[in-house]
Amino acid sequence: MLDLRIDNVKIYDGSGKSTSFGSLGVRGRKIVAIGEITEGAIETINADGLAIMPGIIDNHTHYDAQITWDPNVNPSPSLGVTTIIMGNCGFTIAPCRPKDRDLTIRNLTHVEGMPLKSLQVGINWDFESFPEYMNMLEDRGVGPNVAVFCGHSSLRTYVLGHDAHKREATREEMSQMKRLLREAMDAGACGFSTTRSGQHNGEAGIPMPSRLASFDELREFSRELKDVGRGLLMMTKGGDTRIKDIEDLASISGRPYLIAALLHSPIAPEKTFNDLTEIGAAQRRGNRLYGAVSPCPLTMEFTMHEPYTFEGLQVWSPVMKMTEDQLKKILSKKSFREKMRSELSARAYRIFNGEWDKVWVTQVKHKKNIHLEGQDIARLSRRKGCDPLDFMFDLALEEDLDTVFTATLMNSDEQAVGEMIKNDHSVISLSDAGAHLTFFCDAGYGLHLMGHWSRDLKLLSLSEAVKKLTADPAKLFGIKDRGQIKIGNWADLMLFDPAKVGRGGLERVNDLPAEGTRLTTPALGVHGVWINGQRVVCPSGFLPNSPLAGMVLREFDA
Ligand SMILES: [Zn+2]
Repeated sequence: MLDLRIDNVKIYDGSGKSTSFGSLGVRGRKIVAIGEITEGAIETINADGLAIMPGIIDNHTHYDAQITWDPNVNPSPSLGVTTIIMGNCGFTIAPCRPKDRDLTIRNLTHVEGMPLKSLQVGINWDFESFPEYMNMLEDRGVGPNVAVFCGHSSLRTYVLGHDAHKREATREEMSQMKRLLREAMDAGACGFSTTRSGQHNGEAGIPMPSRLASFDELREFSRELKDVGRGLLMMTKGGDTRIKDIEDLASISGRPYLIAALLHSPIAPEKTFNDLTEIGAAQRRGNRLYGAVSPCPLTMEFTMHEPYTFEGLQVWSPVMKMTEDQLKKILSKKSFREKMRSELSARAYRIFNGEWDKVWVTQVKHKKNIHLEGQDIARLSRRKGCDPLDFMFDLALEEDLDTVFTATLMNSDEQAVGEMIKNDHSVISLSDAGAHLTFFCDAGYGLHLMGHWSRDLKLLSLSEAVKKLTADPAKLFGIKDRGQIKIGNWADLMLFDPAKVGRGGLERVNDLPAEGTRLTTPALGVHGVWINGQRVVCPSGFLPNSPLAGMVLREFDA
């Protein structure tokens, strides 16, 4: 007797090859039959021609904090995600000494846009070491399957304390960090992650700790992973990080290296393609480099209280340390505005480059300004006969900095993004789920790839899209027996309607601890999600009393 049989279903098995039609049988937590099935089942579903695929493996999430109070990591499972990789970019919360908790929270608040109060109230700190963190997740249960990176910034903070974001490590500190990495790998970390991005700053604009590391330090971690003999390295690179230097790190370790965040910039349109070409050349030399690309435009909602959009600019680094009053004062200063304009006029690879036609007024505070909503800054300033930066800052100041703006920053050129998705050396990634909660929500990146890019724009077949979201990341991370619909594999599944699949518009909800707000997005055309054979999503959405069916993944194919 089967536990579940789904009949009349079109099967996208994750291999990228053609589909089949028939039934699928699940017993316990595994797939046990595919095709023509006669065996009876406790529950039978007639899919009526709908499609089924392996659950999505989201390889770039930041749920490390949220998962301690929300083991279901909403909204990802409702968007078809059955496995998440956490700890990207080196921003983990383990290991962490009790004395460093406040610093860790404040950094996360800034760099990943998580509400401070929610983190203060929400995080369960029943751990200090990385192994203790993994055990805590396992003991309390997890919604989806979870794999965790050992994060560079956490290692630095643990060993260097407040010096972590000030200087390079000494030899003794380096060997302590290597011991901690080894301990994390032994406890089942999936690899080592770091960032060098100028956009990654903690509280008051101080750089995240890993940005202070020398390449020598990174080489040491690569050597450690070589000794361990498994695991993946990931880095969010900075504007000046050379692919050649990352290749060096990959060749020392002999491990795959995932490079984020290859986002297309209209100001430097050749940059990501050059990176991908260099990544391809490195692959031909036997070094396993991959470029993380996103199928979503990078769109952010923000206010001038915390304008993440501008924080990659040099002129902004002293501003991030300022109090609210000082911030208002400097925003009104002519000399500051001039400085910012002049920096913006120089071509560079960064998230904002003065494309004022891509910044909109989303929500005003004062009724008298309501007519501005939905219009872009370029047009509004033209109409008023003033400079766009002046227009935006004046409006924000008039409204006590509460005006909500939306900016489409990168990855909006569909021709270019399409080429990046199709590139042989890219990996579909960068949902950033669990982070930037107040700025955007791309947790539905997988549904977007299937609906927008595959069905609507016909960039790739649905079979290919499914493979990129399932079997490809499973292979890259060495995740065993997942990512394909195959007899003997874990029953991570998504039932969907190919004609309707996609992600809906953004919605603002305040379900975080201490009533924190986040943006979320509903799934379209998703009829069911199963994690290890247990159903967590039905046609109307996430089942409120879903079982915590996920597993903490600790073993990976080397
Ligand atoms: Zn990230």
